[in-house]
Amino acid sequence: MKFVYSSKYEMNFGTHVFPTDKYRMIREKLVANGWAKEEDFIEPPPPVLDDIRLVHTKEYISDMLNLRWTARTMRSELPLTWQIIEGYLFAASGTIAACNLALEENTCVHIGGGFHHALPDHGEGFCYINDIAVAIRKMQNENKIERAAVIDCDLHQGNGTARIFHNDKNVFTFSIHQEHLYPVKEESNLDIGLDDFAGDATYLHYMRSAVPKILAEHKPQLVIYVAGADPYKDDQLGTLQVTKEGLEERDKIVIDECRKHNIPFAVVFAGGYALNIQDTVDIHVNTCKVCLGITEPVATEIQTENQEEKANREGSKPSG
Ligand SMILES: [Zn+2]
Repeated sequence: MKFVYSSKYEMNFGTHVFPTDKYRMIREKLVANGWAKEEDFIEPPPPVLDDIRLVHTKEYISDMLNLRWTARTMRSELPLTWQIIEGYLFAASGTIAACNLALEENTCVHIGGGFHHALPDHGEGFCYINDIAVAIRKMQNENKIERAAVIDCDLHQGNGTARIFHNDKNVFTFSIHQEHLYPVKEESNLDIGLDDFAGDATYLHYMRSAVPKILAEHKPQLVIYVAGADPYKDDQLGTLQVTKEGLEERDKIVIDECRKHNIPFAVVFAGGYALNIQDTVDIHVNTCKVCLGITEPVATEIQTENQEEKANREGSKPSG
């Protein structure tokens, strides 16, 4: 199985809740665990503006390319630099690459993407370019698929994706999210807005009832699975209170169901704002693990060396 990844995803947002270093850390952990080799990581090809134009308006694209701080760009809640815009352009190219690989090999994980809040004419909520919508439109345009489904399990509703495909009977949008949170909701084909503190049992109950039905009834030829890490119990932006084990079970529900129906799927990672970035990394790595069909437990730390250094540094403190 291939992973799509670019070092350009590690963008400098200054002091910001979105940790873009998670992408590199996920890659490093996959290699450290022996689950991926260097040659398994595919670089996205250079972005093509005509692909971005399949979803976004020319005025908004012009604002982004010229780094103009306007009503269209400022709702991103992000700084606006060329490094950042380039990162989002490559992320869209990366999700296209992941969909192509999924159609060829059944499964592909994009260590990036999932920017589901971006709308055709403006950015929102840490998202400049809706890579999910761009990739689906690209696959349709090249006649590789007609029907797709977006299984969006990020903490937040996939409002941008829902709006973009609102009148498109060929693209089924599903979002399971914390209801009383950003953003202003759009109408997906199926929305499950959970109460605060929903927890594993409620979350998984709705996943088990929704996902098989969507795939059986809509019969998509491609699924994009938005595997957000932010429903996690120690996330700074929400209180859905799902555990790591619960999120891994969620991954299994989506992935097993796709495989049962022989539907190719591409995974994108979306949000993840755990107090400890290592938890966010673990959750995303667990998703990779499920895709790879690995059943062994994940090591909780990438390196013990750092802990040893830390212990040495703190050695002068009283220990007991
Ligand atoms: Zn989110």
